[in-house]
Amino acid sequence: MQKRLKINMSVKGQLLVISGPSGAGKGTVCKALLQQNDIWISVSATTRSPRVGEVEGINYFFVNRDEFLKRIDKDDFLEYAEVYGNFYGTPKSKVFEVLEQGRDVILEIDIQGALKIKSAYPEGIFIFILPPSMEELKSRITNRGSETPESLKTRLEAAYDEISFASKYDYAVVNDEVEDAVKKIESIITAEKCRVFKIKDELLGRY
Ligand code: 5GP
Repeated sequence: MQKRLKINMSVKGQLLVISGPSGAGKGTVCKALLQQNDIWISVSATTRSPRVGEVEGINYFFVNRDEFLKRIDKDDFLEYAEVYGNFYGTPKSKVFEVLEQGRDVILEIDIQGALKIKSAYPEGIFIFILPPSMEELKSRITNRGSETPESLKTRLEAAYDEISFASKYDYAVVNDEVEDAVKKIESIITAEKCRVFKIKDELLGRY
């Protein structure tokens, strides 16, 4: 009789890197994912000013340019990039600590940062969030009310460029309905946890 196979799925956490143009709804999708799953999201440092309602340490760590440059020198960031004239960076210390604990980690970062991480850590899961259409993207950014006409124009122009990078990612998820997008990402996470190359050692050690 065949021995019953017991697979311990408690392997190390997975690193999810999520990008997409401004207005694609990455923030909303990530928030819903976190509410429904045991995932930790990294809080970035930025030199951009806080938007109304943004909270220090929850949305970002808001720092000035000098402080950011000092932290680059101290090698504090896993990656950093200049986006729309401001610096954004992923603080290094916590990310791998959480992954080691077996918890999944989300980095919601721009394409430049995502591609840097991809070349250093290809085991990550790279997900690109797309808006249902460019009209919808424009209306989402406009309705947010946080952009000046100038920054709205910058973000819209950048969106076309950014979307052309979707093919560098492992998965593309269209965010039409947030709940559907969340379900798709949960399915991706589940499928990735079954990738043989990720669980090979665990499996071989068991039988
Ligand atoms: P926002 O100003 O709309 O919050 O963010 C602008 C862009 O910066 C978004 O594409 C966001 O994903 C990206 N971003 C936020 N944090 C980081 C980070 O730590 N590193 C990089 N490379 N991009 C980031």
